[in-house]
Amino acid sequence: MQLLRGAIRTYAWGSRTDIAEFTGRPVPAAHPEAELWLGANTGDPAWLEGPDGETSLLQALFDDPEGQLGSVARARFGDVLPFLVKVLAAEEPLSLQAHPSAEQAAEGYLREEQLGIPVTSPVRNYRDTSHKSELLVALRQFEALAGFRPTARTIELLRALAVFELDPYIELLNDQSDADGLRALFTTWITAPQPDVDALVSAVLEGAIRYVSCGAKEFAAEAKTVLELGERYPGDAGVLAALLLNRITLDPGEAIFLSAGNLHAYLRGVGLEVMTNSDNVLRGGLTPKHVDVPELLRVLDFNPTTEAGLHPSTHQDGIGLVYDTPAVEFAASMLTLGDDQLGHEVDAPSRHNGPQILLCTEGSTTVCGKSGVVKLTRGAAAWVAADDGPIRLIAHEPTTIFRATVGL
Ligand SMILES: [Zn+2]
Repeated sequence: MQLLRGAIRTYAWGSRTDIAEFTGRPVPAAHPEAELWLGANTGDPAWLEGPDGETSLLQALFDDPEGQLGSVARARFGDVLPFLVKVLAAEEPLSLQAHPSAEQAAEGYLREEQLGIPVTSPVRNYRDTSHKSELLVALRQFEALAGFRPTARTIELLRALAVFELDPYIELLNDQSDADGLRALFTTWITAPQPDVDALVSAVLEGAIRYVSCGAKEFAAEAKTVLELGERYPGDAGVLAALLLNRITLDPGEAIFLSAGNLHAYLRGVGLEVMTNSDNVLRGGLTPKHVDVPELLRVLDFNPTTEAGLHPSTHQDGIGLVYDTPAVEFAASMLTLGDDQLGHEVDAPSRHNGPQILLCTEGSTTVCGKSGVVKLTRGAAAWVAADDGPIRLIAHEPTTIFRATVGL
């Protein structure tokens, strides 16, 4: 068992304070820090801290796959870590995006290989052959757009904005209130000629300003989000698409699970993500990065869902609150040690002896495994090799630890 140092990704939408403060480094950071990657992604692996310096987690897996990953995970996923943990700090909205299913990823990867688009090219959509699903757990309040809202509610929102230019689209949804209606409307907006988008976006923004300034409450968050996106990305059809998605606010500990095809845009906040180890993203707007609308339309799931439908169910297992997801590549739980568990060893077994990544989100604890112990404080992470578990914890103060393992 070793301390694991994550790889920091600096993107413009990140924060100069949140990740630096969380990991105990000087604030403000030199650059906006958007993500901290804890995993064995070939693009940016995390580092194991040893007595003789640091080793990349990738190298450790290569040197001893059986000991690090265990036979169950190896049999299913080969000699790679199938999940990636991220701390995400969004100070500004991220792009409107969705991720492919396994079939779509395999097909898309092959197609782009045959077209000769280098894997590192900014216009490449499929950088690997894996599907991508992601679980996001709020560390601090987290705001997002995700999943197409049930159409009856979207019609109420569009009517509340009182924008006559929206009338034909309200009619479209009225006539066809299912996934096909949402597909037709989203496709119309996202592929409309720029002058039409400009006109409709500006009418919607005027409607949103009127709605907010008259003090209306019901859709205030939705209207303010549209205004914010419109200011940042003027003339972007993604501003219109935002009208169709659930506007979600997560309190700390609350989660959403996004399966393949779910259209989403993270707006702001600090969260923990665990996802399949894949970089496959199809973007539809709200970004200066590569956007591929036809490809996005191929992978999107237009079935409407409520916000509640995106929250994974949870169950308690010992000291762990387990987030139930259908993913086999990962499982996630929040381990909590309260006052009556301080100062003595507490068992924290996982479902089978696969590898674990532990990230301390509050307090401090000693983690005991077969090969030794490490001490974790807030913002620090540990790698627990398969042959090092099961673990026991000795907390010195009330402590929470986010744990990711394989989900078999
Ligand atoms: Zn995503």
